[in-house]
Amino acid sequence: MKFCPKCKSLLLPKKGQLVCSCGYKEKGEERIVITERMGSHDLDVADEEDDPDGNSELPIVCWNCGNRGVTFWMVQMRRADEAPTRFYKCRKCRKVWRSGK
Ligand SMILES: [Zn+2]
Ligand SMILES: [Zn+2]
Repeated sequence: MKFCPKCKSLLLPKKGQLVCSCGYKEKGEERIVITERMGSHDLDVADEEDDPDGNSELPIVCWNCGNRGVTFWMVQMRRADEAPTRFYKCRKCRKVWRSGK
């Protein structure tokens, strides 16, 4: 606990600093802790939008933007004895549509 040297109010930690309602700021030890945490490079951003499944690209032209390069996946819509519905996704405009009717 630290108190403001100006107005004797309790200083509150805020963004690595100790701040007082009067406007006084003091860089406290907490800043070190926060800096260390920020420095960790565990942030591995998953880039799932880019390539959901690299093997399933088809030379189909997207009806929406004309881009050639479409991924697909199968979904069993109803019963198991029916053919699964094939979905397509344009790698450029992200448009998704299904095959068949
Ligand atoms: Zn103060
Ligand atoms: Zn497209």
